[in-house]
Amino acid sequence: MENILLLAHTEADGSLAKAGLEALATALGLGGALTVGLVGAATQAAAGQIAGCGAARFLAVTGDAFGQPRYTTDAAAAEALCRAADCPIVLAAGTSRWARALPGVAYRLSGRVDTHATSLTSANGAPAVTRWFYRQRMEAVLSRTQRPWVVLLDPGCVAPWSSAPDAPGASGTATVEAVSVEPPATRTTVTGYQAPKADEQTIRPDAKVLLVAGAGWTKKQADGAVHAAEAEQLILGFLRKAQASLGGSKSVVDLTGEGEAVLHCMTHMNQVGQTGSTPRHAKGLSTCCHGEEPHVVGWRFVNQRRAINLDAGCGWARGKADVLYVADAFEVMRHVNALLG
Ligand SMILES: Cc1cc2nc3c(=O)[nH]c(=O)nc-3n(C[C@H](O)[C@H](O)[C@H](O)COP(=O)(O)OP(=O)(O)OC[C@H]3O[C@@H](n4cnc5c(N)ncnc54)[C@H](O)[C@@H]3O)c2cc1C
Repeated sequence: MENILLLAHTEADGSLAKAGLEALATALGLGGALTVGLVGAATQAAAGQIAGCGAARFLAVTGDAFGQPRYTTDAAAAEALCRAADCPIVLAAGTSRWARALPGVAYRLSGRVDTHATSLTSANGAPAVTRWFYRQRMEAVLSRTQRPWVVLLDPGCVAPWSSAPDAPGASGTATVEAVSVEPPATRTTVTGYQAPKADEQTIRPDAKVLLVAGAGWTKKQADGAVHAAEAEQLILGFLRKAQASLGGSKSVVDLTGEGEAVLHCMTHMNQVGQTGSTPRHAKGLSTCCHGEEPHVVGWRFVNQRRAINLDAGCGWARGKADVLYVADAFEVMRHVNALLG
């Protein structure tokens, strides 16, 4: 099997995030000699975190300039690591940082890149990538002859690497070879991060449950009135109690711009579907959402699907959900929230 370079950037606290550890697990499964290439303001702690993983070499580009996510510095660091490691296969997690920088790096190295891979395995002794096309409607297995072949692995596809209890792992020390890179001139300065407060956060990629709210929450109900405020309270109550992630249909996220009753917790970032996201969760509960194909295609990676809809003939009833509750979602969610305490 061909040698493989795993590229990983550190987080603000110097550690490697789950997505990086997932890519590491994938790299180890491939069978070739593994080189780890780290990028960050400080990289020793990250190297220690995975010291026991069995990598043949640890390389690192370290320095303040490489702590900030930015195309020029990330691409320069990755290019230098690829040249120093000289591996035909380069794997990295599909983080926003690597997704921005690595296609350009592949071009500089006269290599090829594949993004949104869901696996990288060996097929008949040659590496092969699995990837979905046409918004998760078709799955393909690809191989390439061009090298270096840079592969970005989507987060959430495999279990992250973790050290065995008796392995050096977390507390180990790794011998790290420094790769020196002159920070390139840059016009971009990262001045800080803006993130919603933890209790306002509705998108939780690691949550076990995805709650999807559809436009029905904002429509006239049996009493002839709209109950958007109660809808929001029920949805947020469930999210808080179940630590669930919130998705929305296109119709409900578009309402904000149309002057109709809206759910304030819903933004376009929450939209699931063909023109939205394809989140990965163990379970999903769709509420007041019709289950049309352009929406449900975003549920491809939700393992167990349940839906609540007043309409027994809605899209979910046509083989798209494991369980459909033909019921009033207001009533059901009131009861569910009461049971959650
Ligand atoms: C090119 C293209 C791309 C698209 N991309 C996306 C996409 O990415 N994501 C997406 O979501 N859509 C997408 N759509 C739109 C999609 O086809 C649907 O229009 C949309 O998903 C409908 O949203 P909805 O089910 O929330 O609303 P509606 O169709 O209005 O359904 C509301 C549902 O709520 C139910 N309901 C009402 N009150 C209650 C209650 N009290 N209890 C239980 N149920 C209740 C109703 O029975 C109804 O089924 C796309 C369309 C096109 C053409």
